[in-house]
Amino acid sequence: MLLARGHNRFLAIHIAVAALELGLEFHFELTKIDQVPAGKSPPGVPFPRLVLEADNEMDRVVAHFVGREFRFEIKCAERAITTSRRVKFRIEIEDALAGKIDNPQVGIARSLENANPGMPIQKSDKIFVAGHRGMVGSALTRALEASGFTNLLKRDRIELDLGDDAAVTKFFVKEKPEIVIFAAAKVGGIKANNDYPVEFLLENLRVQNNVIAAAYENGARKLLFLGSSCIYPKLAPPPIPESALLTGPLEPTNEAYAIAKIAGVKLCQAFSHEYGANFISAMPTNLYGPNDNFDLETSHALAALLRKAHEAKQSGAHELVVWGTGTPRREFLHVDDCASGCLYLLEKYDSPEIINVGCGEDISIRELAELICDVVGFGGELSWDKTKPNGTPRKLLDVSKLRALGWSPTIPLRDGIARTYDWFLKNAAK
Ligand code: NDP
Repeated sequence: MLLARGHNRFLAIHIAVAALELGLEFHFELTKIDQVPAGKSPPGVPFPRLVLEADNEMDRVVAHFVGREFRFEIKCAERAITTSRRVKFRIEIEDALAGKIDNPQVGIARSLENANPGMPIQKSDKIFVAGHRGMVGSALTRALEASGFTNLLKRDRIELDLGDDAAVTKFFVKEKPEIVIFAAAKVGGIKANNDYPVEFLLENLRVQNNVIAAAYENGARKLLFLGSSCIYPKLAPPPIPESALLTGPLEPTNEAYAIAKIAGVKLCQAFSHEYGANFISAMPTNLYGPNDNFDLETSHALAALLRKAHEAKQSGAHELVVWGTGTPRREFLHVDDCASGCLYLLEKYDSPEIINVGCGEDISIRELAELICDVVGFGGELSWDKTKPNGTPRKLLDVSKLRALGWSPTIPLRDGIARTYDWFLKNAAK
């Protein structure tokens, strides 16, 4: 039986997880520490083996075997109790139970030194990729597997609906992923976003709240939350730095989605600030690549142009009609580059501050359309449907922060489009 007393239920969660991992029964008594004499078990709790007590300020934990002489204290360096500290508790409890710590003070000092909040990810870590069948999730899965990560947890929607709170909790309690990558979302184009704001808000909030909270409660060492460049204000001047977040009104057509994503970022930051969780958030630019959505009703610009150019070529058309005037400029990153950037962040980035993932270069829609026609082999003319909206004149992320960390993309746009067209021909062309 493991007993803990104290004021702080979050500390109790850490201790409870440690107890469960050790196969010990656990009892937490929410109480004022000064009302409970050290060394006494609460009434009705039989045969305690170890007691942990936290003081009101959460900066001191006292642990001792009830009825026995030795007693030790853990001085926490910071107020927040981090996951690594839970691991540290576990080490200490295991060692204490095994009688390995002759002088507890020394043992604890050593394990405190070893505690590392930014412990690097290991090839054997259990990694849950939420949304692993989507464009980004599948690229992350490919990248992880290619880099030698062998312990990936994957669940599709039928096996685990991430919007189902109880199912998500059960899954996390059972599997205890050490690393969580959040690439699940209800995504869609302008029309879907505009027509179904309730669904975009509710589903995205539900799914992300469930996963982020369960990751923390079950001791995930690190979580990567994927946001999107649509979180930035509509009129943020390009290249858009991370500091532009919440400095102005959002693009109204995808406001519901953006608000949900901003809430996800803020929830990760809150877990970080309040409880010391190592939850990071990446904001990728427009992505394209395998598993992209090529449905003309709901797709994004690059995938839509690729399909249109392909179909124009197949049908022998002389003209390809493109929306707008062709002057807006956009940034495009191959999803395999995005995955490589995200892996880099998982390994090297431990800050709750958001970080952009992009290539740092933009291209006009006209140039993009010409490039796509060239790759696809469509030799007809481009014509412009100027009755359709252009959207923001220019959208480009400031990627200097990620560059400064030492990462940059490797797939040039032309190669990326050619690879994507190849994938489209094998998988999505009708
Ligand atoms: P996809 O639609 O390709 O993938 C999303 C995945 O999430 C799907 O596999 C989907 O499953 C899964 N999912 C959604 N809801 C649930 C649920 N309730 N239970 C289980 N699984 C669920 O999207 P992307 O890969 O394009 O996007 C992923 C993330 O990357 C998003 O957060 C997005 O904002 C971000 N991103 C994407 C960009 C892009 O250009 N695509 C650009 C910038 C950021 P199912 O297949 O069953 O629906």
